[in-house]
Amino acid sequence: MKVTLIGTGLMGRPMGERILAAGHHLTVFNRSREKAELLRSSGAEIAATAAAAVNSAECVILMLADEVAIREVLFDEDPKPDLGQRTVIQMGSISPTESIGFHQEVVECGGDYLEAPVLGSIPEARAGSLLVMMGASHFLFKRWCTFLQCFGPEPLLVGEVGKAAALKLALNQLIASLTAGFAMSLGFVQRQGVEIDVFMKIVRQSALYAATFDKKLERMLNRDYANPNFPTKHLLKDMKLFRDEAEAVNLELRAIDGIGGLLALTLDKGFADDDYSAVFEAVSPAEG
Ligand code: NAP
Repeated sequence: MKVTLIGTGLMGRPMGERILAAGHHLTVFNRSREKAELLRSSGAEIAATAAAAVNSAECVILMLADEVAIREVLFDEDPKPDLGQRTVIQMGSISPTESIGFHQEVVECGGDYLEAPVLGSIPEARAGSLLVMMGASHFLFKRWCTFLQCFGPEPLLVGEVGKAAALKLALNQLIASLTAGFAMSLGFVQRQGVEIDVFMKIVRQSALYAATFDKKLERMLNRDYANPNFPTKHLLKDMKLFRDEAEAVNLELRAIDGIGGLLALTLDKGFADDDYSAVFEAVSPAEG
């Protein structure tokens, strides 16, 4: 099948490798061309414009940062891509409201649209073990489920367009809350003079434990947030999206505002492109 991938950033690149490994013909476009070029040696064709990339395939995978990026490549470019008779599969993390809006616009242009956001990061993208959540009609789920198995073994139909986007935001809110909560307890025990090994031994044996604590422990202890799988700026983006959607359904916002504030402070400290465990620098800044 002829597939186009737009967005060859941290996640898009390994996902492009998976599409090629599954035997599809792949065309890629990325705003910064040098990142698209990295897929050439694996067999991808590099398109000069988003329109050329879209027009070359029946299926267009979007792995872009946010709504602005999607709007830019699908609707704001000159020449405009021809979306008629093509299926757009949106796999980045955007809000349900944004996704429902894109669905309408793509259908108005004569195309099909479904959302398939993912849980998991670069290692899972490389291994094809992402958790793929689909927001789609039953018809489009059946049509595209097998193809999406190149990214994850068991794409799950969450519901109509918007439902998978909502689920993804709920999961990323958990990432932020768990990480901020762990950072606070870690900073606290450090400053109280409690042995970190003792703290972790108890936490690991308890119902409070989450695997992400051990994944982030070393980075926080070493204050080393380089080479991120998931940068802080994208987690803050997701928390802002979560807040807007939570407000619309009358959820209490104080907790989300607190954690969002910590992530915003992390960005102010210069960690936008670093691993989101850098929230530790907002919670427990280095002393002296
Ligand atoms: P990334 O490395 O920052 O890549 C973002 C992509 O969006 C790049 O291709 C970038 O192009 C493009 N882009 C940004 N603004 C643009 C604009 N205005 N116009 C055109 N293109 C634009 O991010 P990522 O980690 O791959 O994440 C992509 C999406 O997946 C995000 O929504 C993220 O929240 C989500 N996600 C990430 C992970 C993860 O672990 N990293 C996991 C699950 C979901 P340039 O290269 O030119 O900047």
